[in-house]
Amino acid sequence: MPTEPLRVKFWERYSLEELSDAEWEALCDGCGRCCLLKLEDEDTEEVHITDVSCVLLNTETCRCSQYSKRKSIVPECLNVKPLDADKLRWLPSSCAYKRLHEGRPLANWHPLISQDPNSVHAAGIGMAGRCVPENKVPIHELPERLVEWPKDEE
Ligand code: SF4
Ligand code: SF4
Repeated sequence: MPTEPLRVKFWERYSLEELSDAEWEALCDGCGRCCLLKLEDEDTEEVHITDVSCVLLNTETCRCSQYSKRKSIVPECLNVKPLDADKLRWLPSSCAYKRLHEGRPLANWHPLISQDPNSVHAAGIGMAGRCVPENKVPIHELPERLVEWPKDEE
C-alpha cells in the first residue's frame, strides 16, 4: 500500500486536528514513555511514572509489539488520538503531541528534526533499554520503581 506523503514541516504549519493519519503517526517520537506504568497520588492527583512498561512494549526497540491490535489486547492502552485533557495529564512533557498542543516546538532530538530515529534515545528521552516489562516485576514492587526523567524544555 502506498505511504501517504507527509507535508513539508507539517508540525509547524498545521494544528493537530489538521494532520493526516500518516502525519499523526509520524509525530510520535517513539520515546515509549506513554507505555510506562504510572501511579496516581489519590490526594494530589499527581501522576508518577515507573520504569516498568506495558507487557507489549519491546523494551529494546521501544516499539509496541502489537501496534495494530494493541487496543484489543491492552484495553487501557493510552491511545492519544483524539487527544483530550484526561489523556494529556498522563503524557510526559516531552511528548510531541503535548508539546504541539501547548504551542511548544518539537525538540532538536525529535526524529522529524534530527532525521535520526535514534536521536530520541541518544538524548535520554526514549526508554529503549531503560525499562523492564510488567511481567517481570511483582505488582507490589511498583511503588519502588518510581523514576524521574530529565525535562526537555530546550
Ligand atoms: S509519549 Fe508521546 S511521543 Fe512518546 S511514544 Fe508516547 S505518544 Fe509517542
Ligand atoms: S499496548 Fe502498545 S502502545 Fe499501548 S501501552 Fe502497551 S506497548 Fe504501549
